[in-house]
Amino acid sequence: MNKQHLQNLIFTFTISIFLVALVSARLFPDVPSLIPPGIPPATAWDAFRNFTGCHHGENYNGLSNLKNYFHRFGYIPHAPPTNFSDNFDDDLAAAIKTYQKNFNINITGELDEKTLHQIVLPRCGVADIINGTTTMNPGTETETTSNGDSNSKPRFHTVSHFTVFPGQPRWPAGKQELTYSFYPGNELTKTVKSVFATAFARWSEVARLKFTETELYYNADIKIGFFSGDHGDGEPFDGILGTLAHAFSPTNGRFHLDAAEDWVVSGDVSKSALPTAVDLESVAVHEIGHLLGLGHSSVEEAIMFPTISSRSKKVVLTEDDVKGIQYIYGRNPSFNGSTTMSSPEKNSGNGGCRVASLWSPSILFPLLTFAFSHLMF
Ligand SMILES: [Zn+2]
Ligand SMILES: [Zn+2]
Repeated sequence: MNKQHLQNLIFTFTISIFLVALVSARLFPDVPSLIPPGIPPATAWDAFRNFTGCHHGENYNGLSNLKNYFHRFGYIPHAPPTNFSDNFDDDLAAAIKTYQKNFNINITGELDEKTLHQIVLPRCGVADIINGTTTMNPGTETETTSNGDSNSKPRFHTVSHFTVFPGQPRWPAGKQELTYSFYPGNELTKTVKSVFATAFARWSEVARLKFTETELYYNADIKIGFFSGDHGDGEPFDGILGTLAHAFSPTNGRFHLDAAEDWVVSGDVSKSALPTAVDLESVAVHEIGHLLGLGHSSVEEAIMFPTISSRSKKVVLTEDDVKGIQYIYGRNPSFNGSTTMSSPEKNSGNGGCRVASLWSPSILFPLLTFAFSHLMF
């Protein structure tokens, strides 16, 4: 064995140990013990907090990233031919004002603490403004306070704030039964699949719709899968927190979740040791709303509100959500006006388990085989 060969072997062995540690860390349930308490990992948008108090007309290093954020969610309709500038220009100020209006924040056009706090929250990848049309919060001006008190919450009536996608796409009227299926490559367990079944049931309880799971993934109306980073639909995921999931309007049926998240499938997510824990059912109920044709709502309590904090659960449809789905599909004849499906976290006291830990261990072997073959040759 010559020296070069020996060096290659040592390098490969070192990298392999690193990879085993890396993959294991994302596949086993005792991840909380690997994370130092009190130090949350940096997430996709944390750096935006540094822009608190920035002024209109001035340049700030990296401000173009915030413009990209606003462009992505529809608040800056047109991107320049090259990159956005780092200048706090009129376009950015206008975007901030629309954003504040949609999220019931005092409309100042400034990057104040409250606005940035909202901006960095994990959220759905579906835009709030589609094709330049503001879909959130119709009629805000008549319903929000304007007394200038930053501590006062804007008032709004909990009626008719739901939105539908432009053109009102929906599943055909004669098709009340929709099938859904899981991307076979994820090899999800029954426990994980049951979370989605519960999420679907929350919508079928109130509207004229029925959902059935099928093994035939490519024939299913709704196709559900966990993917990482760029996964081929032009909407790449961004790692921990940031965007959590996205779904397409009818009758596309694609529902994608960011595989990098610390998804919690059971138990009380608020007790999770992971600061980045995200409740799977909460996100599933929201995205199903999109799959059926609902856009975002500015009612903070509504399922269709775009953001959700980590370690929180929101799965019960509000009046706003119910009105929205019944507007499109009509009322389930057996629905008596109030949802019977409550939040299930009260039934369980543990800190939850991660989806990743529930994936079949058979994923580990092909991953390592792939890593070895690419390092050795
Ligand atoms: Zn959404
Ligand atoms: Zn996708």
